[in-house]
Amino acid sequence: MAHQWQGVLREYADRLDVSEATPIVTLGEGGTPLIPAAALSRRTGADVYVKFEGMNPTGSFKDRGMTMAVSKAVEQGAKAVICASTGNTSASAAAYATHAGIKAVVLVPEGKIAMGKLSQAIAHNAELLQVRGNFDDCLDIARDLAANYPVHLVNSVNNDRIEGQKTAAFEVVEVLGDAPDFHFIPVGNAGNYTAYTRGYTEEAERGISTKLPRMFGFQAAGSAPIVLGHPVKDPDTVASAIRIGNPASWELAIAAREATNGYFGAIDDEKILAAQRILSAEVGIFVEPASAISVAGLLERAEAGDVPAGSRVVLTVTGHGLKDPQWALRLPGGGEVQPTSVPVDVAEIADVLGLSRAAASPTDAV
Ligand SMILES: *Cc1c(COP(=O)(O)O)cnc(C)c1O
Repeated sequence: MAHQWQGVLREYADRLDVSEATPIVTLGEGGTPLIPAAALSRRTGADVYVKFEGMNPTGSFKDRGMTMAVSKAVEQGAKAVICASTGNTSASAAAYATHAGIKAVVLVPEGKIAMGKLSQAIAHNAELLQVRGNFDDCLDIARDLAANYPVHLVNSVNNDRIEGQKTAAFEVVEVLGDAPDFHFIPVGNAGNYTAYTRGYTEEAERGISTKLPRMFGFQAAGSAPIVLGHPVKDPDTVASAIRIGNPASWELAIAAREATNGYFGAIDDEKILAAQRILSAEVGIFVEPASAISVAGLLERAEAGDVPAGSRVVLTVTGHGLKDPQWALRLPGGGEVQPTSVPVDVAEIADVLGLSRAAASPTDAV
C-alpha cells in the first residue's frame, strides 16, 4: 500500500506517552495544511499562514486530542468515555469511541450546539443527552460522573487531550522550519492555547526551533472570562464553540501567556462574522464562527500596531465552516442571502452575468 499519513500518535510516537501496549485508535487526524494567506498578508503587512484544523476527520482540531485520550482510555480498560461539549468534542469523542468499539456519553447544553455537530454525535452512535443548563454545568456533571462511575473523562481537563493537541505546533515548526513570531488562536476552555504553548516549548527545548511565538488568544466579547478576570455566568456569542464562562485550563493559560509574552483579547460578534467572511471570500477557507476569531484578532492587533510588518504569523482556525453554515448566508444588516433565480435560457443568463458575446474563434468549438 502506498504511504499515507499515520495519525498523530504514530507520526509523533517518540514525543508522546504511547508504547507497544497502547492500542492506537486513529482516524488519520493531524497533518493538516498550513496555508499561506496572501489576502491577510496584504491587509496586515505580516507574513500570514492559516493552520486549517477543519481538515481533521471530524472537522475540528479536537481529533488530535481525542485519538490520544481514547487510546489511553482503552489501554486502561475503559468501556465508556464521557465528555461535556459545545459540539466538536462530542462529535470527535463519538467518532473515536465508536471506532474503538466502546461507548461515548456526551452532555451538551440544550439548544446551544450547532446542527452539524449534533448530527455528527448522533451519526456516530453516541449516547447524547441535552442538559438544561450551559456548557459549564455539563462539565461539572461529566467530572462528577467520571469520578464516581465507570466512565472515562475525555474533556481537555484530561492531560492526554492536551498532549495530542500539542502535535499541531510540531507540524507548524516542521513546515516553517522554525516557530512563527506570533500565533493567534481562539480560546474557550484554553486547552488548545495551552497545548500549542507546550508543543512550541518542547520544540525549542529540543533545539528544533529557536524561539517561542507570542501566543495571542481571543475570546468572544460576550464570553470573555479570562479577559475580564472573572467567570461569566451566562456566556453569549454566535461563536458557540467558545461559549464558555469558566475555562477549565484558565491557570495553565495564564502561565502560557506569561511564558510567551502573549496576550488575551475579546472580539465582538459582528467582527467575528466579518472576519469569517474575509477568510472565506478572500482566502478560500471556510470556518465556523469561533475559528474566525483568530482572523479578527489578527486584524485588530495589526491595526493597533502590535504586529510589526514582516512578522511571521500563524492563525489556527479550529473547525470547519460546514458544521454551522447558517452564518455564511446571513446578511450583515439582517435577512438572508437569496441566490438569484434564472430561467433555462443562455442569453438571459449571460445578460444577468453582464457578459457580452465574444467574437467566435475556431478554437471555441474544441
Ligand atoms: C473546542 C473549540 C475551541 C476552543 O478550544 P479550547 O481548547 O476549549 O480553548 C475553539 N474552536 C473550536 C471550533 C472548537 O471546537
